[in-house]
Amino acid sequence: MNAKPAVTPDGYCANTQPVPGTTKQVNGHALGPKFLKMHGRRYADCPCGRRPSLTDRGRLRRHKPPEK
Ligand SMILES: [Zn+2]
Repeated sequence: MNAKPAVTPDGYCANTQPVPGTTKQVNGHALGPKFLKMHGRRYADCPCGRRPSLTDRGRLRRHKPPEK
């Protein structure tokens, strides 16, 4: 298993680097009109097990790791 990323004192995952090769872009056009506002958003896996969205600079958004 991969090592789990550190967690900040307030409970958020300290990792901001997406797992390489896991980035996916949402295709809102394929999902229907309700999803158009999500269109173009990118998501990637974090080693902690979450799948947060990415910032414009390709960093993982702040997220909490899954409960054990
Ligand atoms: Zn994480």
